[in-house]
Formats: sequence, C-alpha cells, structure tokens
Amino acid sequence: MSRNRSNYFSKACKVIPGGVNSPVRAWKSVGGQPVFVSHANGSKIYDVSGKEYIDYVLSWGPMILGHAHSKVSKAICSKAMKGTSFGAPTEAETQMAELISEAIPSMELIRLTSSGTEATMTAIRLARGYTGRNLIAKFDGCYHGHNDSLLIKAGSGVATFGIPGSPGIPAEIAGLTLNLPYNDIDALKTTIEAYGPKLAAIIVEPVAGNMGVVPPQKGFLNKLRKLTAKYGIILIFDEVITGFRFTFGGYQNLIGIKPDLTCLGKIIGGGMPVGAVGGKKEIMEKLSPAGNIYQAGTLSGNPLAMSAGLTTLNILKTRKTTFSSLDRKTGRLLTEIKNLFVSKGIAVCINQVHSMFTIFFQPGPVYDLSAAQKSDTAMFACFFHGMLKNGIWLAPSQLEAGFLSFAHTEKDIDKTIDACSKTLKNL
Ligand SMILES: *Cc1c(COP(=O)(O)O)cnc(C)c1O
Repeated sequence: MSRNRSNYFSKACKVIPGGVNSPVRAWKSVGGQPVFVSHANGSKIYDVSGKEYIDYVLSWGPMILGHAHSKVSKAICSKAMKGTSFGAPTEAETQMAELISEAIPSMELIRLTSSGTEATMTAIRLARGYTGRNLIAKFDGCYHGHNDSLLIKAGSGVATFGIPGSPGIPAEIAGLTLNLPYNDIDALKTTIEAYGPKLAAIIVEPVAGNMGVVPPQKGFLNKLRKLTAKYGIILIFDEVITGFRFTFGGYQNLIGIKPDLTCLGKIIGGGMPVGAVGGKKEIMEKLSPAGNIYQAGTLSGNPLAMSAGLTTLNILKTRKTTFSSLDRKTGRLLTEIKNLFVSKGIAVCINQVHSMFTIFFQPGPVYDLSAAQKSDTAMFACFFHGMLKNGIWLAPSQLEAGFLSFAHTEKDIDKTIDACSKTLKNL
C-alpha cells in the first residue's frame, strides 16, 4: 500500500509543484506523503488503496451534507446533460441570488464568482472604488484567499508554513494592508483612530477558521461594526466558511450584526467551484455593468455549480431546526475527546463553534494567531498520523478547522472516540 501511495505522489511531483494543487493538501507540517483519494460518500472518504476514513475535513468545509449526496449528485448530472456553460445568463443564477439574499438580508445585491478568492478580491476593489481610499486592514491569522492585498500574515497554508506574506507581492501593495491581532479591541481602536479616514475596508472572518477555530470574543465584532461605521469604513465579513455552516444564513444572522459586504463560498457551491460577494445596494451597484468598477468571470454562475449549490441550500433550508443536532453531535465528540486527553494527562485547548472545531495541543486559551502558534505541532503531527492509521481523516495541520456534516452518525462519533483512545495509548 505504501509503495502504491508514494508512486501516486512521486508521479504528481513530476508535473505539479509539490505534487498538489493547493498547498494545504500537502503534509509538510505533519510529515509523510499525502494520501491520494479515490472517492467519498456520506461521512466517509476512501484512499486509492480502498481504505475507509471518517472525514472531518469535508473538502475544507463545503460538504455539509456529506459527500456525494444523492440529490446533489443527481442535480449535477441532469444539468450536465443539458450543457455545462453558456456565457449567458440563466434563471438558476437569479434563484441562487434570491435564496442567498433571503437568508442573509444584508446581501441586497449579489455577484457570483467561481471561488472565495475572487469574492474577497472583488469586495476589496469595490470598497476602494466606492470610498476612494486605498488602505485596508485585516486580522492576523484570518485567511481570505490568495489575493495580493490579503495574503499578509494570513492563516491557512500561510500560517502553517510560517510565511508572513509571499514573495511576488510587491511591497507597495503589501504596504496598503494593515495588520491587526484578532480579538484585540484596543489595537483596533488605536489603528482606526490613526488611519480611519484613509481606510477603505476592514475584512474579518467573524469566526476565524484558518488559524484553527478561534471564536470572536464578546464585544469584538460589535466594536468593529461601531468603529467602521463611524469612520465610513466598509466592513467586510468573510463568511466563506461560516456561511450556511451554523444556520440557514450567516454567522451575522446569529449575532445580529450587518456588515456592508459579505463574501461567501464553500457550502453555497455544494462541492462545486463557487464564490459570492454581496451587500448594500448602493455599494454593489458600483459593480460593472451597473457601475464602473470592473469584475468578471467566464464561468461565473456556472450551471453545474448553481445546481449543486441550489440543491444544497434548499436541503439546508428544510433542515433549519436540525443545525442544533449537528452542534450537539460535535459537542459530544469533543467532550469525549477532551476527557480522553485529560485522563492521559495531555493539556489540550479545544475550541468549538457549532460544527467547527480545533484541538490545540497546548493549555490555551487560544484567542489569536500568536496564541494558536504556541501549540505543540510535533505532538499534533503524531496525533494526526495515529488518527489516520485508525481511520480518521483530519486536516494535516494544527492550524486548521475540523468540520462535521449531517451525514456523520452517532456510530461515526463512537468510532472516532475509539480511534482517539487508541491513538492516545501510543502518543
Ligand atoms: C477558503 C476560504 C477562502 C478562499 O476561498 P477559495 O474558494 O479557496 O478561493 C476565503 N476566505 C475564507 C474564510 C476561506 O476559508
């Protein structure tokens, strides 16, 4: 099996940089070679040798209904028979925008893209075009896609690999992005008081998911909304992960805060490439062709992506009340895991927000990037490999989120607890 595995990877490395098409898929921070996937179904993912795993990565968030949900797959297949891209408007795009706008009322007008990266890129351009200001601010450890302006002290692969920004981003561009520590109201106040009238936008993950899961502390997002409003700064909620993960809507619905712009992706594509940016009509109307701020995409609003996304959202809509069951399942899993660590005498800090979680290998609390980076990544790597051996598929980095889907059963949870118990015996 292992020969098989390395064969796939070494072949890939000959034609793809690092053998993967997105850096987080590599196992750089945990060691070893990435397992190649053959297929997935429900809560399970299968490698090329046929081994089954319970999947807590879920394609990094999108697969909230589980893999290959029969209704979603059927919708994609029947659409595919009728043509896969037209480069002209379709009714499904309107339906998608209507559904999103109904679920997240702050998104009055919506532009669909093919990725979350495009959505955040467009949000930044819109904010700059609308305000006539150049500076933006982001929070350390938040990841907003790989745009030049936003790849500064970012989370996800950037945090995992410990790089502050990226070569290839001109200092002149990086210099327009201010960095703030997450959850630090004082730093936020000082920065806004100093730069407020020059700031076009502040972008934030309302629940951070790319430095591991880090919830916003009480008052943080409220203060952010108040201060940005006071200085005419566009507040952008990046809900690419959190959109439709906790409720039929965004995290903003749960906390009652209205950002000016919101970015979505992941779940709204049902496993197909999608992103969306939306918000206040008077800002969104500046977007071409209604306005003169340019943005475009050959495959934007693609029919297959719309059918997968619409089917997923319509199923979630009928599940309005059962999001809490997903939260409870996650809670049980993490309580049991915590107990196992306690009895083994290993200090961990488990952050959970609904069906998202991270087990940080440190006593905690973890409230920002520098706190998250204090984790024992070597011990995490051992845990990761142990869990994998025992049939549990986790993200190959300490600084990432785990997710549950509606397809995860109580039996899956039991099996995962059992795998954790076995893994801890050898840790
Ligand atoms: C995944 C992610 C993005 C980028 O989305 P892509 O579709 O990968 O371009 C942006 N923001 C957040 C919060 C994300 O988790």
